[in-house]
Amino acid sequence: MRYSTYLEVNLSLLQENVKKIQEMGAPQILPMVKADAYGNGLVPISQFLSREMNIRKLGCATLGEAVHLYRECPDLKSEMIIFSDTEVSSENWMHFYENLPITPVLHQASDVDFVLKNKNLKDLPLILKINTGMNRLGLSLDELELLAPRLKGRGVEHLMTHFACSYYPLKEGDKTHRQMEEFKKAKKLLNDHGVEVRETSVSNSGAIEQKFGFQETYIRPGLMLYGPPSVEPYTWDGHQISKFVTKILKTFEVKKGTPVGYGINVAPEDGYIGIIPVGYADLSVTTLSGVEILVNGVKGKIFARVNMDMSFIFFPIKDKNKIKSGDIVEIWNHDNRTIAYLADQAKTIPYHLMCAVTNRIQRNYKVN
Ligand SMILES: *Cc1c(COP(=O)(O)O)cnc(C)c1O
Repeated sequence: MRYSTYLEVNLSLLQENVKKIQEMGAPQILPMVKADAYGNGLVPISQFLSREMNIRKLGCATLGEAVHLYRECPDLKSEMIIFSDTEVSSENWMHFYENLPITPVLHQASDVDFVLKNKNLKDLPLILKINTGMNRLGLSLDELELLAPRLKGRGVEHLMTHFACSYYPLKEGDKTHRQMEEFKKAKKLLNDHGVEVRETSVSNSGAIEQKFGFQETYIRPGLMLYGPPSVEPYTWDGHQISKFVTKILKTFEVKKGTPVGYGINVAPEDGYIGIIPVGYADLSVTTLSGVEILVNGVKGKIFARVNMDMSFIFFPIKDKNKIKSGDIVEIWNHDNRTIAYLADQAKTIPYHLMCAVTNRIQRNYKVN
C-alpha cells in the first residue's frame, strides 16, 4: 500500500474515449483488456465497460486472465475472447470453455482440428484468426482451404486478422492494404465453400485512428481506449485515462561534480535534486534516465541511476526555490501526449510504460 504515490484511473475518461471512437463512425467495439487492461486494472475496467457501457464482448490474451475476471465478477454479462494463449487443446483446462462465457481464437490448424473433434466443445463458437502477413499467429489461406469442408455445418462465428503496421499513415498498396486483400481472400474462400461467416474484425488502434476496417462487424481497440495515440502526426485526441502521481520526497543542492546515488554519476553542473519515491519496482522501465519531468512548471530530468524505490530528478539551480519536499509530481497526466512524449524519450512505447506500472502502485478509480 502506498499513500501519496498512486495511479489514478478515471473511468469517465474511458467512457469519453469510447464515445469519441463511436463518433468516428466505428462499428461495434470489442475492447482489448489484456495485460490488466494495459495496466489500468482488468476487473474495474471490464466491469465498467460491461455494466456502464453495455459492451458485450471483451478481448484478452490468456485463458488465465478470463478465468480471473469471472472469478472476481461471476455475474459479468460480457463474453471474453482469448486471442493468443488459449490452452484450448489442453484437456486440463477445457472445462473453463464448457462452463464460462469464454471463447478462444483458434489461430493454428491443430487447435481447429482439436475443437472440431471434441464432443465437449461442440457448442463452442468458432473464431478463426487468419495470418494475412504479420506472420505471428493465424491460419494460412492454404490451411484454411484444407479446413473449409469441415467448417460447413457449423459455420464461422467470427473471422479476424491482425495488422503488423497499422500505426504508419496508410497509403494505397501498403502492408496494411495488402493484409486487407488477403483477409478478403479468406472470406471469399469460406464463402466459396459454403461456410457461413457471421462476424469479422481487423482493426486495432492504428487502423481505427485512420478509420480503416470500419466495414467489418467489430473493431478491437486497445491502446487508444486508454489514451495514447499511435499514428504520427498525432490526431487521436482521446484522454489518457490514468495519471501517475507521486511527490518530492527530499530535496538538496548539489555542486557540479558531486556523485549522486549508486555508482558514480556526477552532477553535470550546480543543481537541485528532488528525489521521488518511484523506482524500477514501481515503474518497471530501466531507460528513464534523462527523461524530462515537469514539476510546478519547472523542467527537470531524471538523473543518475533509477533505484528500486527511488529516482532522482535534477533541476537547474535557478529554480531551487520552486521545488520542495512534498510537492506533487505527475509522471504522466490525462493529456495523452505526455505519455507519448515520455515513451519517446525513454526509447520505448506507451504500451510498455502503461504495462510497467507494477502492483506496488495502488490504482485509485474515479468517476466524475
Ligand atoms: C492487442 C490487440 C489489439 C489491440 O491493439 P492496440 O494496438 O492496442 O489497439 C487488437 N487485436 C488483437 C488481436 C490484439 O492482440
